[in-house]
Amino acid sequence: MDCLFCAIKDGQIPSQKVYEDEYVYAFRDINPQAPVHVLVIPKTHIPSADAVTEENAPLVAKVFCAIPKIAAAEGLTNGYRLISNVGKDGCQTVPHLHVHLLGGMKLTEKMN
Ligand code: 5GP
Ligand code: ZN
Repeated sequence: MDCLFCAIKDGQIPSQKVYEDEYVYAFRDINPQAPVHVLVIPKTHIPSADAVTEENAPLVAKVFCAIPKIAAAEGLTNGYRLISNVGKDGCQTVPHLHVHLLGGMKLTEKMN
């Protein structure tokens, strides 16, 4: 399968890894929108949050279990924002489920 984030988690495309376990890979966004901008992905290819099912939900939960560890390692003691874009209207550009973890500054109140 031709998927950018699958290639990144397999090490075929280099990335700045910040976290990895059996189920999850996290790396710095190439075009950061905040001082800390990490993409957290399941190692299993799931196209988006719209493809979450009862079956793959445990893998998605692993992503959320990793997030507090990554946030702590990045020093985000004042909080952070999680975003997962879905599809065309959501401006998703990479069709592999990913959670943007943004922080390191006071973020705007605007969400769209
Ligand atoms: P989306 O728009 O799908 O929610 O987010 C995709 C994100 O992936 C964007 O923020 C973009 O900057 C990031 N991105 C795209 N290509 C690469 C890449 O090759 N390496 C890394 N580290 N990030 C990428
Ligand atoms: Zn993929």
